[in-house]
Amino acid sequence: MAANRPIVLIGNWKMHKTIEEASSFVEGLLSGYTSEEQKIVGLAVPYTLLYPLSAQTAGEFLKIGAQNMNEAAEGAFTGEIAGRMLVDAGAQFVLLGHSERRHLYGEDDDCINRKVKRAVEAGLQPILCVGESKEQFERDETHRVLEQQLSQGLKGLDSDKIKNLIVAYEPVWAIGTQQSASSQIAQEAHHFCRSHLGTLFNKKIADMIPILYGGSVNSSNADELLAEPDIDGLLIGGASLSLDSFKQIVNHHYQKQTGYPT
Ligand code: PEP
Repeated sequence: MAANRPIVLIGNWKMHKTIEEASSFVEGLLSGYTSEEQKIVGLAVPYTLLYPLSAQTAGEFLKIGAQNMNEAAEGAFTGEIAGRMLVDAGAQFVLLGHSERRHLYGEDDDCINRKVKRAVEAGLQPILCVGESKEQFERDETHRVLEQQLSQGLKGLDSDKIKNLIVAYEPVWAIGTQQSASSQIAQEAHHFCRSHLGTLFNKKIADMIPILYGGSVNSSNADELLAEPDIDGLLIGGASLSLDSFKQIVNHHYQKQTGYPT
């Protein structure tokens, strides 16, 4: 983590938790912290949890966000949800281009680009997820894939529009496999993403964009990953579902960064 960028820790709950389960988790997470903490912890939750959790966390350090949205402003799209509806329900950010959306639901870079633009227009902070598959990693195509996903995903957006952008590097082979990328591999990919963002925008802007690592993060590997200069935070799937394991990661880094007691 570079000195001028805060640590950002985001849990991705995927399709887990009822309102009751989620609100007792959040109650447990909020206890022990004060609202003057930097807003660096977030939860990407299912749509049904946006409204109750954003009401529960109003004025607190914890941000609530969504995991996807439709690219259109509104219309006849049964079962879909618009960015402005997410904002209306209290979402502050949205994950876009998560590998499960790309691979299970066929989202391509053009579709993700339209979603990023719509999210910005709706006032949501976009977290653009990028990452290579196992085969691409083995064929040494990581840079090509990252370059394409970043260039296409951010096409047509000028620096003014990406002020709040967060990028998440999530190698597909590390997601849900208990096989995190080593901190060296992750740092190298993050460094590549940052220099490519510098080419797309400029170095000053690229230096301000937080780049998170995601893929089998837990309380044992979080520290080592965050020690790397271009790893500014973590996107945490499985380990964010249990209050104990998520709190361990959050407590540790609050302590490290702010001296806040656990
Ligand atoms: C994810 O799905 O974004 C993720 C990083 O999952 P996990 O931490 O379980 O690998």
